[in-house]
Amino acid sequence: MLEGKTVLVTGSTSGIGEGIAEEFAAQGCNIVLNGFGDPSEIEALRARIAKVHGVTVCFDSADMSKPDAIQHMMTRAIREFGAVDVLVNNAGVQHVAPIEEFPVDKWDAIIAIDLAAAFHTIRHALPTMKQRRWGRVINVASAHALVASPFKSAYVAAKHGVAGLTKAVALEVAERGITVNAVCPGYVLTPLVEKQIPDTAKVRGITEEQVVRDVLLAAQPTKQFVRVKEVAALAVFLASDAAASITGAILPVDGGWTAH
Ligand code: NAD
Repeated sequence: MLEGKTVLVTGSTSGIGEGIAEEFAAQGCNIVLNGFGDPSEIEALRARIAKVHGVTVCFDSADMSKPDAIQHMMTRAIREFGAVDVLVNNAGVQHVAPIEEFPVDKWDAIIAIDLAAAFHTIRHALPTMKQRRWGRVINVASAHALVASPFKSAYVAAKHGVAGLTKAVALEVAERGITVNAVCPGYVLTPLVEKQIPDTAKVRGITEEQVVRDVLLAAQPTKQFVRVKEVAALAVFLASDAAASITGAILPVDGGWTAH
């Protein structure tokens, strides 16, 4: 059903984005990868997904903090494939610090990459989605789109912003065959989470083991990390026709975290 659709996943050279890209490729979709990393590793990833799933996979290195680069990536994808049928806004960064010490450049980067980038990709993707009367926008937000944690002011603000953006755009395009939703993972053990463990240990004055047990998994009643595959499966479902009436939804995949 999704075969032949074009799916662009921002931040898909690692973690959740890579998992989502692979899951859509497994459905027969053409994929536009994006993100940072070692060029030879990215090329190996691109070639592997294309070969394993028999689909076209291209890569665009656009920096999601740069509106011009985003425009260039979206224009290129639409020119090469005719449309971005499924847009997955996934690229994200994190920084952990008390607000008085929060570096201003980190605040600006998180708001740009985790929130404003989705505004830019969406505005470029919508015209062809509207022409085709079909489209899916899936924003990878976070449990932090629904609840806060201390020392993550920029991330929590950005992700709450993504939730608001999701609802507003969903209402604007509701009669056009386009759905707009946010998926909100709890903790998934990806490089983004691994990197914040030492910082959280420092700021809270506890060991890294205590961060995993008492801070990260303490929030999740299941006491398990969410798996990338679970988030990717939800994204694919949201793109399916069975999910045509799900729009403007902010969907937790968080082991019960936000049920607290
Ligand atoms: P990750 O660090 O593994 O991957 C992040 C991806 O974004 C990478 O491909 C990276 O290259 C890319 N990226 C970073 N800055 C970029 C930029 N300026 N331009 C283009 N690409 C850029 O992280 P992840 O855990 O897979 O996170 C993916 C998304 O999921 C993020 O939006 C994150 O906030 C969200 N999320 C993660 C978790 C978690 O526990 N891992 C939980 C909830 C939400």
